[in-house]
Amino acid sequence: MKVTTVSVRVSKMFSDGNYGHQQTEVSYTAEVGDGEDPEQVTIVLMARATAQVRVQLGESETLNIRRAVNPQPRVCGYCQIALLDWDNYSHKACEEQKRAERDVARAAQNEEWNRQRESEEALAVIGAQPLNMHDSGEVLDGSDLSEQEVEWIADDVAFTKRSGVIR
Ligand SMILES: [Zn+2]
Repeated sequence: MKVTTVSVRVSKMFSDGNYGHQQTEVSYTAEVGDGEDPEQVTIVLMARATAQVRVQLGESETLNIRRAVNPQPRVCGYCQIALLDWDNYSHKACEEQKRAERDVARAAQNEEWNRQRESEEALAVIGAQPLNMHDSGEVLDGSDLSEQEVEWIADDVAFTKRSGVIR
């Protein structure tokens, strides 16, 4: 069988977002010359017809249609690299990475809160009144304690708790 003619037809219709639409159709027919590959001719014709349709609709007066004809590239929200068709907003690997980072940050935050709570309890044990003014007008909130001192106090609190003094 010898293919002598190739025909393509490209038709596109976009809604204008206001109960209307705009449609363009382009048809090309070409004779396949001696020695020409009909499939190659089809590819070339399709590319031309598609480009022509895009030009026609891309000049629409309606913003919605221009946007539909020239869609923004879909990129990952985390790495900004192009998404695959089956990704929604980000790559699965990027989501997992983000989740892991969030877990680490959350654990660090919890540790910080625990440390603060322990040092507040420690200050309570030694009779300091957090955020209250002392006779001298000095605020005893533990901010003048070194980290090592706070740690020792926290250990004392833990010990006192175990012995049942604080519940
Ligand atoms: Zn990504």
